[in-house]
Formats: sequence, C-alpha cells, structure tokens
Amino acid sequence: MESIDLSILEMLSLIYEELDVSNVEERFFELVNEIYRFDRSALFFVKHKKGVLQGKLSKGFASESIKKLEIGIDQDCLFTRPLVSGFPLWQKENNNDHYLAELGVENFALVPVVNRKRVSCWKVRNCKALDCPAFGKKWVRCWLVSGTLCSTGYRLTEEEKKKECLQCSIFKDQNVDEVEGVMLVDNSLTGKPIGNDVITSLSIVAHTVGVAINNSKMFMRTLNNAIRDDLTGLHNRRYFNERLIDELERAKRYDETLSLIICDIDHFKRVNDSYGHIVGDMVLIWIANLIREQRRKSDVVARFGGEEFAILLMNTDKNLALEIAENLRCQIEETPFLGDDDKIFLTTSFGVATLGEDANSFDGLVSKADKYMYCAKAQGRNRVFSA
Ligand code: GH3
Ligand code: MG
Ligand code: MG
Repeated sequence: MESIDLSILEMLSLIYEELDVSNVEERFFELVNEIYRFDRSALFFVKHKKGVLQGKLSKGFASESIKKLEIGIDQDCLFTRPLVSGFPLWQKENNNDHYLAELGVENFALVPVVNRKRVSCWKVRNCKALDCPAFGKKWVRCWLVSGTLCSTGYRLTEEEKKKECLQCSIFKDQNVDEVEGVMLVDNSLTGKPIGNDVITSLSIVAHTVGVAINNSKMFMRTLNNAIRDDLTGLHNRRYFNERLIDELERAKRYDETLSLIICDIDHFKRVNDSYGHIVGDMVLIWIANLIREQRRKSDVVARFGGEEFAILLMNTDKNLALEIAENLRCQIEETPFLGDDDKIFLTTSFGVATLGEDANSFDGLVSKADKYMYCAKAQGRNRVFSA
C-alpha cells in the first residue's frame, strides 16, 4: 500500500507539472493504468455544447468503440450517474446498461472526473423550485438530468429546456467548470475484484486531475489572451515582435529566407466618419479574417496598429512575398464588406521587406516594410511596394 501511495503522489506531481490540457489528460490516463493495472480503461469527457459524454482515451478496448460513444448527459444511465451524483459506482454483476453491455463490461467502476468546487445551479440562481430534481443537491445541474425545471420554476419540454440552458449564465463557458468526465475502469477479463480502497484513491486522484485540467485550461486561456488582440483575435504586436526576433535569428543561422509584409487600410478614417466606429470595428474584424483565411499555416499574422496588419512569412523570398501581398490586395479590393444597408469597398496598401535584401536586423526590417508601405500610399494607395 505504501508503494501505491508514493506512486500516486508522484503521479499527481507529474500531472501538476503539465500545463497543456491534453497532456494532463493523457498523463492521468497512462499513470492510472500503470499504477492500478486494470484490464481495460477508458476516459470520457462532457462536451457541454453538444450535451454529450464523449469517449476520448482508451486502453484495452477497441479505440473506435470508445471514440464513437456519445451519450446524452440528460440520459439516465450508469455512465451519466457519477456525473449527476458526484460519486463513483461499481458493480460486479451483469447489468442492464446497454452501453456497458456493448463494451462487454461487467466487473467495472465508473469514477467521476470533476472539480468538486463546482457550484449548484439552484444556489446560483436562487431557485425556489423545491420539486426540481436538481434542487438541494450539491452536484446536479439542471441540464444534467431529465425532468428538471428551469431556473424560473416552470416545467419545460426537453427542447425548451435545452434552449434555456444555452442562455443560462451558469451554463455559459466562463461559469461552467468545463472539465467534467467519467473514467471507466474494468477487470472483466481477469475477474480481479476492484476493491473499495482502489475506488477511493482513484476518486481522489480523479478529482485532483479535474482541478489540474481546469487550472491548465485557465492558464492556456490567460496565455492566449495575453498574445492576442481583443478585437480581431489576431496576434498582438508584442507577440509578433517576439516571434520576429526569434525567426530572424533562426533564418540567419540556417541561411533561410524570410519576408515581412505590412498592410494598412486606405482612408480608413472615412469608414469611421461615414458609418461610425462600430461599423469601423466590424470592418477591421472582417479584414483580419480575410487575411487569416489567406495565410499559410506557418505565417504569423498580427494586428500591428489601429488599421495596420503585419504578416511574417518564413522561408519566403521577395518574389513570393510580393505575390502573396498582391493576391491579398486584389482580394480585399474585389470583396466588399456587407453592412446592413451598404456595401463598403476598401483598398489596402502594402510594404514588403525581405531579410538580406532590405535589412538584417529587427528594427531595419520593420522600418523598411513600414517605409515601403508609405511609398505605396504616396504613389496613390491600393498597391504593393518594395525596393
Ligand atoms: P491612409 O490611407 O493614409 O492610411 O488613411 P487612413 O484614414 O486609413 O489613416 P489615418 O491614420 O488618418 O486614420 C486611421 C484611422 O483608423 C483613424 C482611427 O480612428 C482608426 N482606427 C484605429 N484603430 C481603430 C479601431 O480599433 N476601431 C476603429 N473603428 N477605428 C480605428
Ligand atoms: Mg490607413
Ligand atoms: Mg495607419
């Protein structure tokens, strides 16, 4: 027992070191298999938007049979019960659950992977529907069980309830603990009993992992927000600068080509003046999406300033960069932004600078691309310029 305790501690510390969500999940799964040595196991997660419990990782089962399993979270079956009760369940005899029967599972346990700090819907909404199955329960949220009432206390049809749930502040992403899942462990092949002590320690581990996954999701979100522009979702200038410095070093070390495009919307002030700032913002989002769709996977696209965008092109010489900029220019010129009443036609001016030919340093490359963009403006706008 002592050695199991130590491996569990080691397992938890390894999991906490991981910041990537899928790594946390995989690590947890691998380590559970290593430590407890069940015949077979599978990990399921709740997809809140789809309203299903979906198979993700498995060992011992045919992986397709787990991945294709999608169980409605409002269905009353053994799989969903740990999610609703918050407690594990285990069984040695045959059972009537057709999902488990299909997997040939008889001697098994289902352990919830949840964050125990999750809030109850009735508490958050100060709900007084005493006859709601979710009322007074620590775990149950009304969208997890059928036959529940909505927060306003009216009985709704399943369809109506689902609609209501989507609008509910507790359901919406930031308030739902996104990680909710179930781990299935099975010893049906060897018939080895799954003891209470194993279930207890596995439940504690699963809860801790639920917290770890939530933490890493929050960390990734914070990290992502820090490198993105709020309005367009493109990378921000700070991130772009850091990448440019790194990629410049790399390109020089490996003698690779690299180009930088700076793009500025022509007469954008007129859009704001004629249609207002809100439409101006929508136009910026729209152009950002056009650029995003056009880019290759390796390109780094950023909002460089108010109505200015930058594209960093790895392994791209001047000719190819000019071609990419020209394609983008044509596409923007030819595609109008569709407002409520009007079509707004826009044009853009581009500056293209290439490592080696135009400059060798970060400052040099940025100032050349910027200078060329202003040359494009000076020559009448709606064009690509380079030396
Ligand atoms: P040019 O062709 O010379 O680039 O003309 P321009 O009007 O595009 O350039 P100017 O620098 O005179 O004006 C840029 C405008 O972009 C002014 C500013 O209000 C607007 N702008 C900058 N950031 C935002 C934003 O986030 N939202 C909106 N709606 N407008 C913005
Ligand atoms: Mg402009
Ligand atoms: Mg500008």
